[in-house]
Amino acid sequence: MQNVNSNRVFKRNKKEPNTEGEYVLYWMQINRRFQYNYALEYAVGWANKLNKPLLIYEGLNCEYPWASDRVHHFMMQGMQENLEIARKKQLNYHSYLEDAKGAGKGLLYQLVENASCLITDEYPVFIMREHNERVSQKVDIPYITVDSNGIIPLGLTEKDPYSAYFFRKIMQKNFLECYTHPPKKDPLRDLENNNSIQLTEDFLKKYPSAEKPLKNKKSFISNLPIRHDISVLEIQGTRQSALGKLGQFINYGLLDYDEKRNDPDENKTSGLSPWLHFGKISEYEIVNAVLDHQPKGWDLDSISYNNGSTGGFFNGDPNIDGFLDEVITWREVGFHFAHHRPDYAEFESLPDWALETLKKHASDPRDYVYSFEELEQSKTHDEIWNAAQTQLREEGIIHNYLRMLWGKKVMQWTPDPRTALDYLIELNNLYAIDGRDPNSYSGIFWCFGRFDRAWQERPIFGKTRYMTSDSTRKKVKLKQYLKKYGNQQTLDV
Ligand SMILES: Cc1cc2nc3c(=O)[nH]c(=O)nc-3n(C[C@H](O)[C@H](O)[C@H](O)COP(=O)(O)OP(=O)(O)OC[C@H]3O[C@@H](n4cnc5c(N)ncnc54)[C@H](O)[C@@H]3O)c2cc1C
Repeated sequence: MQNVNSNRVFKRNKKEPNTEGEYVLYWMQINRRFQYNYALEYAVGWANKLNKPLLIYEGLNCEYPWASDRVHHFMMQGMQENLEIARKKQLNYHSYLEDAKGAGKGLLYQLVENASCLITDEYPVFIMREHNERVSQKVDIPYITVDSNGIIPLGLTEKDPYSAYFFRKIMQKNFLECYTHPPKKDPLRDLENNNSIQLTEDFLKKYPSAEKPLKNKKSFISNLPIRHDISVLEIQGTRQSALGKLGQFINYGLLDYDEKRNDPDENKTSGLSPWLHFGKISEYEIVNAVLDHQPKGWDLDSISYNNGSTGGFFNGDPNIDGFLDEVITWREVGFHFAHHRPDYAEFESLPDWALETLKKHASDPRDYVYSFEELEQSKTHDEIWNAAQTQLREEGIIHNYLRMLWGKKVMQWTPDPRTALDYLIELNNLYAIDGRDPNSYSGIFWCFGRFDRAWQERPIFGKTRYMTSDSTRKKVKLKQYLKKYGNQQTLDV
């Protein structure tokens, strides 16, 4: 990767691959797809250079934070799809599902014993961040993480972007170069050494293929030491579903996005965040598909740097331009922030002005204070908030506009901002299928001032942005939404 994409490669333990070892190992941690995947492409590149076969490992343990039936089931659907693809393409692919706490311990290190190098996904939050820091120090072979998360490589920014405007400037300066160095659609087509890799019987006995449990997901999951009260969703965690969702959005939502995206009743956003989170679809292919729908005559030459402003950059259909700002700028600002800030999940990571104003107002009297359990079960006096929380609990997602209100209200109804932050992280990451993502922390911390500016000072919120359910009711179409998720649980006051 000798171009802008070299900024995607992180040689974690500074070791260089050499010809020792039987195979190149790719550990698929978060970008769980065979297509448009820079890390897989990089692993294929090393396999070819060293004339080795490639072993792809995809696993799922049961001890990750907020582990639940919901997350497990969604991920297992994706793993089943990958297993079928791997079989069809005769890939060297091992998938493993831990069936008891600690059962998978040592698996990766055993695979490493015969590997020339270990290539895996760069990801700035959650357990992947910890894995990449910890495992890279424990293995003797090169440990290389490759960023396949967005259009602008993580290594291109020098520090954490403090605002979307600041990041948008960087994005606008670099978009064309990055976009025109895309990941390959099918990197495995280039793999030259297709020799089969035989894992030992001992290994397979200890860490058997996931094939069997994947056929009996529900019964397998029911025996795991994870949360069983977070229900399985109707949506499917497969790449095929992600592509279907993208097609549906392009046909029925994209050209109404600007006007209707904030209306919960309209359902005009893409709904792609769950699949983006688990890497079943790449941001590049979304951007590529969407740009194909710019008006006739539009091409990449229409793009002009606009000093970080939202409009006047893509210079195409305003709906498409608006969507691209969300999926590129707003999605990626959080990845770049977390990449530079190990404290991305800490209250203290907020900007100084926000810390100051929130501390000043921390003990302002609150009209309502709810416990975590009351919030979790949608038991507040506020119909719109309850509906949003019910959607989160039952469907693993909240409509974007309401997600902002949802966060803001928890700030207002908890004893202090730190408690609000803890509750929001817990509710979001436990129930949201797109949770535990850099965007989870962007969205939640945005409620407390991250990436935002100071507004007029008010009780409780201080100078952070203020939102109310009354103004939301006036501003967006909610009738059907409230009919579907609302009312049942509202407390009389
Ligand atoms: C309190 C709070 C919590 C949030 N938690 C999460 C979370 O856990 N996971 C998550 O992916 N997003 C989160 N968001 C951001 C945003 O709400 C979702 O990304 C968006 O609603 C997903 O719906 P969609 O795919 O239909 O979005 P679309 O409008 O179709 O946008 C396409 C994609 O662009 C990105 N995007 C859109 N809006 C935003 C935004 N405001 N910030 C960052 N990226 C954005 C997402 O990747 C999204 O999938 C949170 C926002 C708030 C205010």
